[in-house]
Amino acid sequence: MRTPLIAGNWKMNGRRGDAEALARAVEVKVAALSGVEICVCPPFVHLQAVQSVLSGEHVALGAQNCADAGPGARTGEIAAEMLLDYGVSHVILGHSERRAHYGETDEVIAARYQEAQNAGLIPILCVGETLAEREADQTEAIVGGQIRGVTERLEGTGLGNGVIAYEPVWAIGTGRTATADQAEHMHAFIREQLAMLEGHANASARRILYGGSMKPANAGELLAQPDVDGGLIGGASLDADDFVAICAAA
Ligand code: PGA
Repeated sequence: MRTPLIAGNWKMNGRRGDAEALARAVEVKVAALSGVEICVCPPFVHLQAVQSVLSGEHVALGAQNCADAGPGARTGEIAAEMLLDYGVSHVILGHSERRAHYGETDEVIAARYQEAQNAGLIPILCVGETLAEREADQTEAIVGGQIRGVTERLEGTGLGNGVIAYEPVWAIGTGRTATADQAEHMHAFIREQLAMLEGHANASARRILYGGSMKPANAGELLAQPDVDGGLIGGASLDADDFVAICAAA
């Protein structure tokens, strides 16, 4: 009953021509697939170029962040409502690279989430533990805390139509993937936490994506887990064939 979502996080890669070529290739290759939602998230400056090569039928467009406030004095930021002009429907929030390199806290991520919701975007909220936290047996405490840290600040609105992405930091860009059992354990844990926070019906309808070195060779096993409802794909989303193979596995 949960339609899988495969989202490509292109991160800070590619010039405009590369983005157009990649989007064009993905658009052609996914046309025959059904039963899966597909989204690509290029850098802000390539949104318009990518929008212009997508038909809007097969591949949705996502951004990699949005501001924690509406338009105004926020140098270097992009307001959620500005993204609407480029056909953006999804937005990645709280990625571990944003948390680690740009100091984004649960508080600011919640504010960004609220802005995204108010603009009618679908937030993809990233959570995940570092290797040190996993080795210290802190995984559930950290991930549970990240979810509560955001939901507690979403007064009244809750998570709405948002998606959660579980991304163990030690698996991102490292080639080291969580095993299917590790992923399923954490996805089931996240769904339990959500059930406490927003009730069983909302929790069982909410999509929880896995992210962290997902590639064609491991996608099938990860996506077959009962609580894994799709993937947030970094490196492998930069290769159209690899990305489409993951979409096909979903
Ligand atoms: P990766 O990145 O697939 O390259 O590990 C995933 C992500 O950071 O979203």
